[in-house]
Amino acid sequence: MRLFLRCFRLCPRRGRLRLPTGLRDLWSYSRLVLRSLYFNTLTNTDVVMDSLFEPVFWIVDHLTRWFGMVFVCLVVVLTSSILIIAYFCLLPMVLDTYPIAWIVWHICYGHWNLVMIVFHYYKATKTSPGHPPQVKSDIPAVSVCKKCIIPKPARTHHCSICNRCILKMDHHCPWLNNCVGHFNHRYFFSFCLFMTLGCMYCSISGRHLFLDAYRAIQHLKSLDVEPQGVPVTGVGWLLGILPPGSAPGQSYHKTPPPPFTFKDRMFHKSVIYMWVLTSTVALALGGLTLWHAILISRGETSIERHINNKEIRRLHKNGKAFKNPFNYGRLTNWKVFFGVEKRSHWLTRVLLPSSHPPYGDGLTWELSLHRKDPIEV
Ligand SMILES: [Zn+2]
Ligand SMILES: [Zn+2]
Repeated sequence: MRLFLRCFRLCPRRGRLRLPTGLRDLWSYSRLVLRSLYFNTLTNTDVVMDSLFEPVFWIVDHLTRWFGMVFVCLVVVLTSSILIIAYFCLLPMVLDTYPIAWIVWHICYGHWNLVMIVFHYYKATKTSPGHPPQVKSDIPAVSVCKKCIIPKPARTHHCSICNRCILKMDHHCPWLNNCVGHFNHRYFFSFCLFMTLGCMYCSISGRHLFLDAYRAIQHLKSLDVEPQGVPVTGVGWLLGILPPGSAPGQSYHKTPPPPFTFKDRMFHKSVIYMWVLTSTVALALGGLTLWHAILISRGETSIERHINNKEIRRLHKNGKAFKNPFNYGRLTNWKVFFGVEKRSHWLTRVLLPSSHPPYGDGLTWELSLHRKDPIEV
């Protein structure tokens, strides 16, 4: 047995020694070439996992890019359907039944909200989020993009769907079919805010109509379930089952006229559709808007939230505290975000449509440590 094990151990050595020198060199060279294809000193498990999942990412990126156009069409179609219902079903009723003060308020608020939604959506989809320069420049960079092979300024991240680096990237939004970055972040947030307000407005002001329409539909359903007539014979007629005036030759009751016309049914169903859609969007988009409002108050983007959370945990283990260098204080963060430089700008730049550029160029950022009062109000 011992002899067998010794042979088993020694045989490969003897076999290798027996290999001709040329063949051995060829084997070493092939192994070196193979290793040089995938090995480098920075390789870790993250790189390996990224490489393995690269086909999955590729499919998801391409699907998101394609579905972006579908989602934009969906936003336009759904918003237009709500507008059609509002103009053709609700507005005539408001004009007929509401007092003049309420009519003025509804018309003014509704149209202001509509203009804000359309303006900010159009600007959010059409405005480029901003990209770092492709040529060599003196802009301070914090790293180099592995995909674009260009220096990345602070707060810049690579979007795999757009396949470009984005200045102060927040996220890629399929509903806009565009990245949300430095130059369109304000438009994106304002769109979310005014769309939520618009949906809440429709949901709250249409709640009584919705309840009436819902009751009417339920009433209709109950009528549909009941039998429309009782088959009768001559005996039935004799027993008095037939209504007065029926002839003996008739075999069924006369069907009563429908309580609602086709137009009434369409009105009720449209009101229910509008209320359900606007209430659902108000809840979902309201949550998203609130989350972004918290991030803006902290001077963070969605991507930075994840990065900063990791930094907080890492430094906490070493007994240190993390401080976000782009957090200038809650009010100042909002002023920087909306580009408010004086008091009147809260009205002209926040509550009215405005195309003013954001604060800064998105390439260089002042750190909160070196910043006293960036915008005097
Ligand atoms: Zn890049
Ligand atoms: Zn993108």
